[in-house]
Amino acid sequence: MLPYGRHAVDQEDIDAVVNVLQNQFLTQGIAVPAFEKALCEYTHAQFALAVNSGTSGLHVACLAAGVGPTDLVWTVPNSFVASANCARYCAAEVDFVDINPLTRNICVEQLESKLARCKKPPKVLIVVHFSGASCDMQAIAALTEKYNIMLIEDAAHALGATYQGKPVGCCQYSDMTVLSFHPVKSITSAEGGAITTNDNNLLERLTLFAKHGITREPSLLDDKEQGAWYYEQHELGYNYRMSDLHGALGLSQLNKLDEFIQHRRKKAIVYVNALRALPVKLPNEEALASSAWHLFMIELLEHDRKQVFDELRARGIGVNVHYIPIHQQPYYQKLGFQTGDFPHAEQFYKGAITLPLFPAMTESEQRHVIDSLYEVLQ
Ligand SMILES: *Cc1c(COP(=O)(O)O)cnc(C)c1O
Repeated sequence: MLPYGRHAVDQEDIDAVVNVLQNQFLTQGIAVPAFEKALCEYTHAQFALAVNSGTSGLHVACLAAGVGPTDLVWTVPNSFVASANCARYCAAEVDFVDINPLTRNICVEQLESKLARCKKPPKVLIVVHFSGASCDMQAIAALTEKYNIMLIEDAAHALGATYQGKPVGCCQYSDMTVLSFHPVKSITSAEGGAITTNDNNLLERLTLFAKHGITREPSLLDDKEQGAWYYEQHELGYNYRMSDLHGALGLSQLNKLDEFIQHRRKKAIVYVNALRALPVKLPNEEALASSAWHLFMIELLEHDRKQVFDELRARGIGVNVHYIPIHQQPYYQKLGFQTGDFPHAEQFYKGAITLPLFPAMTESEQRHVIDSLYEVLQ
């Protein structure tokens, strides 16, 4: 079965990991700091903290933002559940803003009207660069600044994308950006994630929460008279560290990121040109050059999704669907959300199919996907 996404690991990546295995440190060595430095260079952010998943990155980002039980966090319904769960980990209340059907990203007009209507604005807004195409960060930041809301980018899909010509992750308009290095994402560290920020105070808090809430930093200690063994726990933190094995893989992969994105973009253009004649809605072409092309998603306009999905799978094409709207998950329905609450996200979900797209996909594999779509839809 041709998967919808797959990592590309070469001998260089393997050597980088084996090298760590032969080093003195498997964790807390030199590979993770080197990866963090390289992430800063790539994204142009001042600081980066590597963690053991994108999900833990979202969790510590919420904690660093000060999210707690009396707070409200807003995000979008068409994302992976982690975009909302991170707020629930902090016992905060979650609400959603519907998407713009054209960009499939947060609808800025709906954000504006929801803010104008709400009794209490959220403490944090988490926007998701869906499928790898950046949200309109400038317009969003104009609103979050007006209402004094912390802005977090869930850029799990978007490492390698640009916005206004600058790399996603530079945090020009946001407080923090969260990345994921799961194998289907732009680059992989097997499991892994990172948070970028330009705020030193946020970096300190992110680091504290990702490392047990423990600090050894002399200037931060309550008791400065103790010896070199001494540390203090200041918060209830977690062990969200990335190991050096994962860091070395991530660093080696980062060297190939631009090449990966070029491959993805080329294939996205092939899809766009080949599929125009079919009764499907294609991704917004405005983002063709700037998107990281994590996902290539079509929306069926006339056909039954389940039938088309099953027929493509029967032809060996590992199509997928991203995502079941978060508010329609049983866990969120129990919190009071209902079908009908976010109609654009629900409408998108009903017809959505994710086509295979990854750097190593061959021309003949892509041709098979395109030919199969013509067979099934015509
Ligand atoms: C993959 C993903 C995450 C979670 O990342 P992990 O590294 O798998 O924990 C969060 N948000 C979005 C939008 C994702 O696609």
